[in-house]
Amino acid sequence: MGEFDLIKRFFARASTPLQPGVALGVGDDCAVLAPPAPGAQWLVSSDMLVEGRHFLATVAPERLGHKALAVNLSDLAACGATPRAFTLALALPRADEAFLAGFARGLFALADAHGIALVGGDTTAGPLNICITVMGEAPAGQVLLRSGARAGDDLYVSGSLGDARLALEVFRGSVALERGADFEAARRAMECPTPRVALGLALRGLASSAIDVSDGLLGDLGHILARSGVGATVQADALPRSALLAGQPLALQRLCTLSGGDDYELLFSAPPAARDAVLAAAAASATPVTRIGRLEAEPGLRLRDAAGAALDWSEPSFDHFKVS
Ligand code: ADP
Ligand code: MG
Repeated sequence: MGEFDLIKRFFARASTPLQPGVALGVGDDCAVLAPPAPGAQWLVSSDMLVEGRHFLATVAPERLGHKALAVNLSDLAACGATPRAFTLALALPRADEAFLAGFARGLFALADAHGIALVGGDTTAGPLNICITVMGEAPAGQVLLRSGARAGDDLYVSGSLGDARLALEVFRGSVALERGADFEAARRAMECPTPRVALGLALRGLASSAIDVSDGLLGDLGHILARSGVGATVQADALPRSALLAGQPLALQRLCTLSGGDDYELLFSAPPAARDAVLAAAAASATPVTRIGRLEAEPGLRLRDAAGAALDWSEPSFDHFKVS
C-alpha cells in the first residue's frame, strides 16, 4: 500500500460533511478554511504523541487514535473554544492495515462526536509519531486564558485526578493491582481520556482563568499562578479521585492526584460570587467539578492536608511504591 492509497483509504473521508468554515478538506495542497464568524477568533493548538514517551506500545490502536485527538481537543476546551477542524501528521514504521484501521476508527469516532473534520496532514515512514493540530473558534474577548486569575478567586478542577498515573505505575511494575474491572477503569483513564469541551464552553464568561491538566495538577497550577501573578492554597487531600485510587496508600494517592499527568481535566478559577453559576455550568455540561482551593495575593503554592495542616510534599521516587 503506497502513501496515497493509505491516505485515501484511511484518512480521506469523502462522506464527511464539511463543517462550518471548511471549504476544502483532504486532497489538495492546502485545506481551505473560511474566516470565523464576525467577532470570533481562530484558536490553534498542536500536540505530538511519541511512542514510549506519551503512550505505551501495548495500547490498542483504536485508543491511540482517540487519545491523539482527545489531548488536542483538551487544549481547545481549556480555552473555551468550539472545535472546527484538525490536521494529522503521521510517521509510521510500516503501513500496518490492522493498526491503521483501528487508529482511524478511534480517531473518527471522537471527531464525529465533536462534529469536526480531518482537513489535511502529512504521512511519512519513520518511528511511530502522531502530531495533530486542532482549530477552533471563540468570540473575541471570551477566550479562557491562564493569565486571568485574581487573588480571592476559587480554584476548581473537573472530574477526578490520578487514575491515569495509577495505571501507568501498574504498567511500570511499581504498584501491584489486580487486573480486574477497577484496573480497566484506570487504564481507560490513561488510554482514553475525555476532553472537557462542553465544560470549557460553559465556562466562557465565567471562569477567570483555565488550563487543562496534562502534566500533573501542581505543575499546571504553577502555570496559572505564574501567568496570573498570584499564589494559591490547595486542599491536597480533598482533590477528587476514584474509589480505586482512594483505596491506595495515602502517599500514592498524593503522587497520583498532585503530580499525576495525563488527566486532561480542566483546572480553572472563578470569583466566589460565581459559585452557583459554576455549579450550573457543571450541571449543564454533565461534568462534575470540585472546589479545591483558593487563589491568594501571596505568591507560591501552599498545600493543606485533611487536618488543615501545612503539607510539605515533594514527589517521592518511584521505588517508594515498588512491590518487593
Ligand atoms: P503535499 O505533497 O502537497 O504536501 P501530500 O502528498 O503530503 O501533499 O498529501 C496529499 C493530500 O493528503 C493533502 O491534502 C494532505 O493534506 C493530505 N494528507 C496527507 N497525509 C494525511 C493524513 N495523515 N491525514 C489527513 N490528510 C493527509
Ligand atoms: Mg503540495
